[in-house]
Order: sequence, then structure tokens, then C-alpha cells
Amino acid sequence: MKHKKFITIFILTALLAVLFSGFFSTGAQGSEGVVQTVKIGLFFGDNTLPSANLQNKIGSGFMFGFYDSGRNFNYLGETEETKITMMKDWNMYISGGAYYDKKPDSYSGVVGCYHVKLPGVYGSFQEASQAAAAYENAFPAYYNGVWNVCAGNYTSYDEALSANDSYGLGGEPMTASEYCITVTVTGTNKILFEYDCGSGTGLAVVPKPENEEKPETWFKGFRYNGGFQYLRLTGKDLTVINYVDIEDYVKGIVPYEMDPSWPIEALKAQALCARTYGASHIGLHKSYGFDLCNTVCCQVYQGQNRATEISNGAVDATAGQYILYDGQFCKTFFHSSDGGATEDSENVFHEALPYIRGVRDDYEKTVNTGYSNWSFTYTADEITWILQAKGYNCGNIVSITPTYTAMGNIYSLKFTDDNGRNWTFSKYDASCILYSSTLKKYTYSMRFRIETPGGSGTVLCINNANNTVEDPGTLYAIGSGEYIASLGGTGEVTVLTGAGLEDIKISGGSATLSADSYIVSGSGWGHNVGMSQYGAKAMANLGYTYEDIIKFYYTGVTIGGVI
Ligand SMILES: [Zn+2]
Repeated sequence: MKHKKFITIFILTALLAVLFSGFFSTGAQGSEGVVQTVKIGLFFGDNTLPSANLQNKIGSGFMFGFYDSGRNFNYLGETEETKITMMKDWNMYISGGAYYDKKPDSYSGVVGCYHVKLPGVYGSFQEASQAAAAYENAFPAYYNGVWNVCAGNYTSYDEALSANDSYGLGGEPMTASEYCITVTVTGTNKILFEYDCGSGTGLAVVPKPENEEKPETWFKGFRYNGGFQYLRLTGKDLTVINYVDIEDYVKGIVPYEMDPSWPIEALKAQALCARTYGASHIGLHKSYGFDLCNTVCCQVYQGQNRATEISNGAVDATAGQYILYDGQFCKTFFHSSDGGATEDSENVFHEALPYIRGVRDDYEKTVNTGYSNWSFTYTADEITWILQAKGYNCGNIVSITPTYTAMGNIYSLKFTDDNGRNWTFSKYDASCILYSSTLKKYTYSMRFRIETPGGSGTVLCINNANNTVEDPGTLYAIGSGEYIASLGGTGEVTVLTGAGLEDIKISGGSATLSADSYIVSGSGWGHNVGMSQYGAKAMANLGYTYEDIIKFYYTGVTIGGVI
């Protein structure tokens, strides 16, 4: 009986623990909420750095510490120095003000990774700093949660050993672990601090505010808001991460994704895309210790260099707003120019997103996109060559069968060779297969048609064969044979058939083309999924708001904050 009661309590306790852990993890990460501080990888993977310097732009010196799992900065100490360098604990040679982990031909100094650890431990950075001040070249060191004072820097254990003898203080020669990070005054071998707390944690460096201004820090020619974290993953060079408020992150992104001289409502729409993208990819690169990287893999982010008052204004005016569908963050795909119609997500990529439906875009043509009309003629031999150059073991291509989506964008291209064998490329692959930088012939978007010069294969007459009709809703077409080509539009057109006028659903037809050459002509630039940036610009010029723009390109979404 007693035993049973114990088991019941045990189960209840376990249940509560599970409930509470669930509760707390929801609170901390906010499955519904937004992480306000995002972690952006600046140098990582194959691009880790032996050393990384910082310089105050706005700010007076730097604070040292570490970030906890809640992304809060935990203060340990600080320096008044305004130019500091973080480096792996290594023999680092100084040449021309920079640090090298291999000995260059000539160098002006070296930061040795061997030191003399003086006896005694201290209660804080401040206490260790005060004690260090009594010795030449001594510095506070935080090793695995313990405050020490170390003196000197030497390139070998033996040098540190003999230095230890001459100090005569009973210290010990040592070097820290492969996770240790050394901070110096930039261009010198004056060590300000060492941090070595094992593999799971990295040194955080945050600029000290000056007056009331938001600090800005120079790093490799770019100015950043927020703080920095330095990790030595598996003991390697420094992974550099920027811990930055999501609004400052978006301010950095917007002017790289869209010309900041564009109308403000378009910039606001871009800000919502960038913010939503960021918030919905928290933890994407967590194996490297951050959320998002700074390359095109995620969103190009190089601090605030390109931010202007206007682009910042677009971010501020929409602060905290996200694009949501069913209360969840949307995948905010966008592209430069749709050339007339965007596309259902599953017709380009794999995933069918309910809010990424193709829309016919009559706005975009009111601005100059630079890609509103492009056309390239390929000979059959060139097409054969392109396929072979891309690794397909085909014979001479003798025919091409394109299919189109209901929006009139390319869906697939089937190539047939003189042995009767076929190669079919669909969705995004269909838009790339004929792209050839060698031949300087390109397919820039999903919106193109392929035809033969004589028009053979054209099996649809629109009033007369040469007419192009922009609005299929007004279109009366005569289909011939069993084939009806897509006309674009929302999928319904009226055709005159043997049975009279009929509304029919266009699902894209196919006609096999066979000729000595093929004309590929299209419009737009990009993958046609989600928002067209030029379309956003056009809508803004016409007086539409960013909300109008977002809701036009993303079907059925809401705009709002997330709690
Ligand atoms: Zn990435």
C-alpha cells in the first residue's frame, strides 16, 4: 500500500516535471512568441578566423562576459580600450598590425600562448585586474569559472618555465585549453583578458554605451549593432556570431535586398519579409551555434553600412509586425520580378504553401524591371550541347515538349533525342536547364515560352495568330485538336468549341516542337514564388500600402505582432 502510494507520487512528480519543462521551454523559446535577439553567424564553418578585431564606432570600450541560453549577456568585466582583438590562444605573430597563426617572414611581435599562472584565486574580474596591475604584462584570466592572474606571454613551455623561476612567486607555467580565447589591444601583444570555460561556451564582447546613443562597432569594415560571441567549436579557429536585436537585423537586411531609394511602402513590405524570415528560422544553423548565417543561404547581412534613414524608417514603422498564416510565420519567398504572374509554390519548389498561390500581376509592367522582355534563339545543336555539358548522355535533340502551369509559367521541358530517349526537367529545374553562361543564353525566370521560328507547334489561335492577349478573362479562343495551351490568368477561360461557348479550366497543355532552332522568350527575373520586388515597387508607386502589397502576393495572410 505504502509502496503503491510512493509510485503514485513518483508518477505525479514525473508528470509535473514534464508539464513544467514543457511550460518553461515554451516560455523561453516562445513557440508562439518571437525571439527578440537573433544570433547571426558572421564567420563560421570553413571561414572561421584565427583572430577578429573590433573597434568602437559609437561606444567607449567593451564589456566581457558570456551569453546564457536565454540569450542574455552576463557581465564579467570591461576595458576602456576601443580597439581590441579576440584570437585563439596560440602563438600569434604580429605583422602590419594584423595577427597570423603561422610565422611570417618578418614580424614585429608575438602573442605567446604560454603564461605564468600566479598563485591565488580571485572573486571577480575587478579583483583579478587589481592584482594583475602589480606585475608587468599580467592580466585577469577566467578559466573554468575561476578567476586567476597570469603573467607574460611566451612561445614555449620552457620559456614560461624559466620566466616562472625569475618571478620567484611560486606560480606555474601553463597554457590554456584549445577552447581558450585571448583578448589583446589591437596590433600589440598586450593581453587584456583570457577566457577558457570549455567547449560549451564562448566569450561574449559587447560595446559599452556612450551617452544615450545606441552603440555601433566596426568589424572588418562593417558596422554592427549588438554584441559578439566567439566560439572555438571543436577547438578550431573562431566562429564569430553577432547577437543583435531582430529590428536591427532587419535594418541591416532591407537595404541589401531592396534599393533603399525605392518607395517607402515597398521597403516596408521588404522589412516584413525579412523580419518574418528571420523569426521563422531561429535555430536553423544551431550546429554552428547560431540561428541564421549572413550569406544568401539565409539573408545577406553585413551590419548597418547600407542602412539609410529611409530604410530604417520602413523598419521602425513596421516594428514587431510579421506575415502570418493561421497564426504561424509564413515562408516569405520573394524574387526580383515575376514578368506578369507569380506561381504556386509547389509548381516551382516541392512544398504546397496555401499562402503562396500564383497571382496574375498587372502592376509590375508599370515599372521598368530591365527584364520585361528577353528572348534567345537556340539551335538544336546548342541545346544538345547544353544538355551534354550539364552531364546528360543524350544524342542529338530532335524535339522539345514544354508544358505550362495555369498561370502560364513554365512547368516542364521534355527533350527527346534521335534515339527516342527522353529527358524531362520540371519545376525550378525547367527554368534552369537552358541557362548557359558559356553560350550567353539565359532563362531568367519561370515565365517563358518556347516556340519554333515558324510558329509550328502553336496550336492555339487567339483572334488571329499574332495577337497577344493580356487578360484571359476577356479571351475567346478556338482550340484545335485535343490541345489547349495555357493562357495565363486564374485558370478559367472561355473558349468557343464545337458545342458553343464554354468555360474551361486551363491546366496547361503540351505540344511537341521539332525544328532546327527554338525561340525562348520570356519576362521576369527570379523564381516567381511569393512577392515580386518590382511588383511591390509598382504597387507602392500606385499608392498601395505595404499591407496591400503583402496581401496581394501572399494569399490569405494576416499581418500582425505575435504574442
Ligand atoms: Zn544560412
